[in-house]
Amino acid sequence: MRFPLSQAADIATYIARNKLRPRPEWQNNVAVSDDANPFRIIHTQIPAAGHERKPHPLIHKRFPLVMMLEPLHACNLTCTGCGRIREYESTISERLTLAQCLAAVDECGAPVVSICGGEPMLYPEIGKLCAEILSRGKYIQLCTNGMFIVKKLKEFKAHPAFVFNVHLDGMEKNHDLAVEREGVFRAAIEGIRIAKQRGFRVYTNTTVYKETDMREICELYEYLAQFKVDGHTISPAYGYSAVNDREIFMTRDDIREKFKDIDKMAKRFPLVSTPVYMEFLKGDRDLPCTAWGNPTYNVKGWKGPCYLITDAHHKTFEELMTKTPWENYGAGNDPRCEDCMVHCGYEPSSALGINAKISDPFKTLSWLFS
Ligand code: SF4
Repeated sequence: MRFPLSQAADIATYIARNKLRPRPEWQNNVAVSDDANPFRIIHTQIPAAGHERKPHPLIHKRFPLVMMLEPLHACNLTCTGCGRIREYESTISERLTLAQCLAAVDECGAPVVSICGGEPMLYPEIGKLCAEILSRGKYIQLCTNGMFIVKKLKEFKAHPAFVFNVHLDGMEKNHDLAVEREGVFRAAIEGIRIAKQRGFRVYTNTTVYKETDMREICELYEYLAQFKVDGHTISPAYGYSAVNDREIFMTRDDIREKFKDIDKMAKRFPLVSTPVYMEFLKGDRDLPCTAWGNPTYNVKGWKGPCYLITDAHHKTFEELMTKTPWENYGAGNDPRCEDCMVHCGYEPSSALGINAKISDPFKTLSWLFS
């Protein structure tokens, strides 16, 4: 099974409850324009050529599914594709307090918390933070470069709702090139080996760039099988505002070409992307952006509209939900969204059953139990 049955059941119940009874305070849209900001994006409300704007199917049923918690942006690496160390350079030494992190988790209420950053293992109270979030009945993915797992593992307790999600963009040579430091791959692998040995659940997290050879990703997954890694997340790199001056990112067409054989990979390896999201990556299906499904909280507040684009930071989660002009984002609505096919914007749409087909529940069930 791709996920423990209890996790699948908990999340399905959460989704059903929120779809049936959407929280009214999150549905009012009182988006305001910050006229004082000369750099603000002015959305014209004119769809791109050939794109007919349709009402968003879930615009009045918005709720969070996976919260992205960034307790700090400091990192021991300077990875080529990382926007955080560039966008948050001025606050790189700041961090949230434990109380702020937990208040944000409670305020948002998402059943899954993805702790990222920066390198979250540098957060001094990372073990305590995870224990507190688990005690609230949440599921955690701790996204890490893996270099501190061996050193800090004693601060954690293996738990079925807790996963280390270790960043690996290829085999040793190419991964170390992507993270701009030698030895990172070996340290991450040692972290994975020890964590698995001590009973922890471990995923890997791979970003696919223009230059990535998908055969190398298969080679990586074959190599990782010896450690009995529990799952692999994989996502295309696309150029967003904080990093789009680089030539390593892909257009929508590049992404479709790169992911055309993802079904074969999903049969061979424990990929944790949903079948509907994989169809989207291959270009077989359109999905609307549901960026509110993955809200991001960091030292500046709730980041809107999404993990990738920053047009505002909000003081409260309710403010993010109600003051973000959601209809203005997504491909065809905002030029910055044109090539976006990232997990954080679109995976919630597949989980929430937007543009659903009759066969989807069967596909999802057979994927879940495979
Ligand atoms: S389409 Fe992508 S970049 Fe645009 S708002 Fe959604 S998640 Fe953000």
